[in-house]
Amino acid sequence: MINKVAVIGAGTMGHGIAQVFAHEGYSVSLYDVDEGALNSAFERIRSNLMLFIEHGLEEESIIEEVISHITLKTKLDDAVEEAEFVIEAAPENLELKIQIFKRTDEATSDSVIMASNTSTLSITEIGKHIKKRDRLLVTHWFNPPYLIPVVEIVKGAYTSEEALSLTLKLLRDIGKEPVVVRKEVPGHLVNRIQMAMFREIIGLLEQGVASPEDVDKAVKGTFGLRLAAVGPLTTVDLAGVDLWYAGAKNLYPLLDSSHEPQKLLRTMVEKGFHGIKTNKGFFEYSDDKKARIIRERDATLLELVHILYERKKGGVSHGNPCNGRSGLYWTRTHKNSSCQR
Ligand code: NAD
Repeated sequence: MINKVAVIGAGTMGHGIAQVFAHEGYSVSLYDVDEGALNSAFERIRSNLMLFIEHGLEEESIIEEVISHITLKTKLDDAVEEAEFVIEAAPENLELKIQIFKRTDEATSDSVIMASNTSTLSITEIGKHIKKRDRLLVTHWFNPPYLIPVVEIVKGAYTSEEALSLTLKLLRDIGKEPVVVRKEVPGHLVNRIQMAMFREIIGLLEQGVASPEDVDKAVKGTFGLRLAAVGPLTTVDLAGVDLWYAGAKNLYPLLDSSHEPQKLLRTMVEKGFHGIKTNKGFFEYSDDKKARIIRERDATLLELVHILYERKKGGVSHGNPCNGRSGLYWTRTHKNSSCQR
């Protein structure tokens, strides 16, 4: 049974992943090379948890309880030496990740499972450089990790079935909805699908087909909404595969097929229109607007996840029977006194 988790990298993803495990009662070591990132991790976790408190889903005491399960570490070896599950959420750089896993490989026991949160890099490539490559895989979380239910698991060429099944169990225990990517492909599953849509959107913007405001409005209010209810393949089944076949025949040849980022995107990056980081992307942002949009996004996600993943199951998801929580934060009703974490 896994009890001790180490998270490498305390940035956007790492602090949130640490929060999820700590919330479920696991003992978490959180490591970063940057002490500033480590020091701000607790502040970020406090602010994330405030959302649940404001929605009446948690009591204020949850903040100190979650934080009490996390130990901040400034040395990699210290962070991982006792860990049974290590998840790396350092920057998306192959050489850096290889170095981190080489060190982790040496400092951990034979039974450890090592996971990378990489969005695009090959876990098989990283595995070539380490001994316990059969214990290495990808667990790809989505932002914000404490709200988005699905985590992709990618098996590399060396990953053992045992490492895969233990990881599946662990993710289910913390209330996540793991999806297994059976064949390693760059971008895994979700980002490939998302990027295909993004390429077409940029193509349409370049042609002046619609404004950025209307693109967001159209996607949110049509298939965005519908996809939250039923997946894309069920959508096609419901409409008729024959109908979609006809649509594909008519539209495939006309869709954007750029093999590199289009001019519009390149120009935006060159001009420093990087989104909220620089106060301008497809839209403009004041400090107030930035805070409001993130807050509203998270509140909406919280309510949607509640409806889509909790209410449907009568308020009980897989969850962690040891602390009675669902992992999606809504139920504390299925406490199991035989648990010993
Ligand atoms: P981030 O830049 O916010 O955080 C990375 C953290 O790693 C920083 O705090 C940095 O100080 C730290 N770091 C740098 N070198 C390190 C080292 N040698 N050892 C330990 N820590 C180190 O990045 P992020 O957005 O959290 O992304 C982390 C990983 O997660 C990347 O692989 C990324 O592709 C993936 N990912 C990101 C998102 C997202 O939406 N941000 C979503 C899914 C997956």
